[in-house]
Amino acid sequence: MALQRSPIAAWRRLGLRTRLSVGYAVSLSLLLFVYAALVYAVAYERLSVEVDHRLDQEVELAERSLFADASGQLVWRPAAASADFETLPNMLWIDVHRADASLLHRSLGGYARGGSVEPLAFQVRPSGFFTVEMPHGARLRVLQRSLTVDGQGATVRVAYAEEQIRHDLASFLLVLAVGMPLAVIAASLAGYWLAGRALAPVARMTEQARAITAEHLDARLPVPTAMDELGQLATTFNDLFARLELSFEQMHRFTADASHELRTPLTVIRSVGEVGLREPHTEAEYRDTIRTMLEEVERLTLLTTTLLELTRAEGGRVSLKREPFDLRDLARDAASFIVVLAEEAGVRLELDLPAAAIPVIGDWTTLRQATINLVDNAIKHSPQGASVTLGCTQQAGQATLSVQDRGVGIPADQLPRVFDRFYRVDAARSRSGGRRAGGFGLGLAIANWAVQAHGGRIEAESVARQGSVFRIVLPSLGR
Ligand code: ADP
Repeated sequence: MALQRSPIAAWRRLGLRTRLSVGYAVSLSLLLFVYAALVYAVAYERLSVEVDHRLDQEVELAERSLFADASGQLVWRPAAASADFETLPNMLWIDVHRADASLLHRSLGGYARGGSVEPLAFQVRPSGFFTVEMPHGARLRVLQRSLTVDGQGATVRVAYAEEQIRHDLASFLLVLAVGMPLAVIAASLAGYWLAGRALAPVARMTEQARAITAEHLDARLPVPTAMDELGQLATTFNDLFARLELSFEQMHRFTADASHELRTPLTVIRSVGEVGLREPHTEAEYRDTIRTMLEEVERLTLLTTTLLELTRAEGGRVSLKREPFDLRDLARDAASFIVVLAEEAGVRLELDLPAAAIPVIGDWTTLRQATINLVDNAIKHSPQGASVTLGCTQQAGQATLSVQDRGVGIPADQLPRVFDRFYRVDAARSRSGGRRAGGFGLGLAIANWAVQAHGGRIEAESVARQGSVFRIVLPSLGR
């Protein structure tokens, strides 16, 4: 059975260019048709009015040619200036009947067209215009008017052949009938050409877009020179591709970095295990081997947990519980949590808090973690005996929590990158110096996400070998 296709579906399958041109041609035809009908109606009306006006003029002329002679009889004496009725085209006849219906005068016209029509038989009727359809199809327009001249009654009739009007209108119709389709065809062709030109960039963009794959995200769509809708579309798509490229790049980097990070403890576990198995050892040595392996497993667990948390957080799958609190309380809490680490590292942890409360709204746990990460970093990178200051301020609708250290600092060229995942200024420096110092380069990435999720930002300033300041800036409820 042949597949039945609905006309709408078939229409939609046509190209945009064809649909535009067909739609344009159809609406133009409709418009022209309505316009022609209107023009035709107005022309017909105007011509008819014109005919009636001329009939009226003829009757007036006839009226001025009627006089009563000495005996009181009506006579026909046309003025010398009056036109020769016989030569007036379309004027068929004029006649004047006396009150007793006898014929006083008659001129036959229409000879200019090479023929005349027999006048109608006289009938008494009320003054005015009427139209008569002749047996052979011709239509006559007649004005009949009764008058009184010097007390004598008379009736004047003037007839006009409407044939000419019809002839004129017919040729007008012919012009329209031939001209309109020609105009529509010409306009449609022009429309088709224009649509083709306007849509050409779309074809180019489609072709180029087909070539863009995950491996070739650096390709961009050609942007038309005119910054019209298509230009804007191309630019918007290119922006989208740029963002996609960046996300893909970050994803690739993240995967590579994560694999690298996971491989290090695994390598340690393997080599420690291999050494342990190679030759017999004392129990103490075996214990040591197992401890080292467990330490690395612990490190692996911590890394995977942190990674999972960060991925969940950045994927927007962590719901933040927003409640109001005093930023000073957060600083005190984070300080009390981390003071043990500071003591272990021989670093003095100082609090610099204002007397007035600093109200903010946010998720306590997430922001506390961010603060702890900053203070932990500050302690890790401070020499023994140095101090780390945790402070809070409020200004112009912004609440700021700052962590200042007098440690090694961060070189200016690396400062913007410290928030990247897995980025470590100096991997050797970070991993050495005891277990705690072996960060994964994720602490600042997590802190940055946490603060940004609260509509805030983290600012960092640092001078190498003099120290760094990290500031968490949040929108504040106070002034
Ligand atoms: P990690 O968990 O390894 O510390 P972070 O993301 O917290 O990773 O920090 C990234 C890098 O930025 C660290 O490796 C460190 O080199 C540098 N850094 C962070 N905070 C400080 C600081 N207060 N002083 C000096 N360097 C810092």
